[in-house]
Amino acid sequence: MAQARTDIGPPLYKDMLPPIIKENYGKWRYHEILKPGVLVHVSETGAKLYTVRAGSPRLISIYFIREICDLADKYCDGYLRFTSRHNIEFLLSDETKIDPLIADLNAMGVPVGGTGNSITNIVHTQGWVHCHTPATDASGIVKAVMDELFEYFTTMKLPAKLRIALACCLNMCGAVHCSDIAILGIHRTVPRIDHENLHKVCEIPTLTASCPTAAIRPNPKLKSIDIKAERCMYCGNCYTMCPSVHIIDPKNDAVSIWVGGKISNSRIGPRFSRLAIPFLPNNPPRWPEVVDAVKKLVEVWAANAQPGERMAEWIDRISWEKFFEITGLPFTDKHIDDFTLAQTTFRCTTQFKW
Ligand code: SF4
Ligand code: SF4
Repeated sequence: MAQARTDIGPPLYKDMLPPIIKENYGKWRYHEILKPGVLVHVSETGAKLYTVRAGSPRLISIYFIREICDLADKYCDGYLRFTSRHNIEFLLSDETKIDPLIADLNAMGVPVGGTGNSITNIVHTQGWVHCHTPATDASGIVKAVMDELFEYFTTMKLPAKLRIALACCLNMCGAVHCSDIAILGIHRTVPRIDHENLHKVCEIPTLTASCPTAAIRPNPKLKSIDIKAERCMYCGNCYTMCPSVHIIDPKNDAVSIWVGGKISNSRIGPRFSRLAIPFLPNNPPRWPEVVDAVKKLVEVWAANAQPGERMAEWIDRISWEKFFEITGLPFTDKHIDDFTLAQTTFRCTTQFKW
């Protein structure tokens, strides 16, 4: 029998595990945080694996990668990994090497932290650098926000962990729906159709099928499409399929802020985040309005939440109405969820049955 080819795609992750992880695979009993940015995992064999978590600036140069690889060679036999939040984790089996590694990282200007009751690096999408549908930038806002919240990365003084995410359009390839605070770029106008060129560059059936709310109908007379404005939620999915359906609108594109999202755990289902601020101006290069709003939300939550209470649980306890009162945010008509297709398009939990 012919052997299946297994050398296609990325290398098998097990080939890259440090020996201590291979030897204790499936035997880890517990882990704890020794200090901000430093974890220990303890195996039932007694073996201990130390993790030093450092924040990366997310967009990094080849020179920076070489420097951190040199540190990994020096302190942990070359073993490191990148987390989904752009942190770099050095995996050590020798406890005495932790402090010298942290000293070297700090000398490079790289902070160590992001564990426990902290704000770890912000997960974000591609923004103006790589994607074609963004309503705002990703890396630029994240840099400006994280500069302001830096002290919460290197300490663990918050009531609970706080996860921040950014997506630059509501197609949302970030974790905006399930983060304590989410920054979301929003388009606010119905796409403009270039009827003259549409049929030359786009497949109309594909374009029609791309709309999640069935707002797009073929227009055979024009060999183009029509968009039913009242069904459009400005997601930009159609623009992804067809460059003749223009969603980018510099005057109206903006930023919104959402709160209280959480991923599921073994006991409760996931929680979608809720709209807190419907509009903030798109104001590069430092987005001061967005930075101020996020900082204020962090500080009000930190001052009022009980130990262990994440943003969602704090809001549950004080009520949604009180949230607006305490934060001083205005409650507007935009906060009323009257999207008529919600019941047919929202799937809120993994327990949902069709
Ligand atoms: Fe592109 Fe939207 Fe993803 Fe941003 S969130 S990278 S605009 S698809
Ligand atoms: Fe449909 Fe989204 Fe395009 Fe509006 S922006 S027409 S909702 S795909």
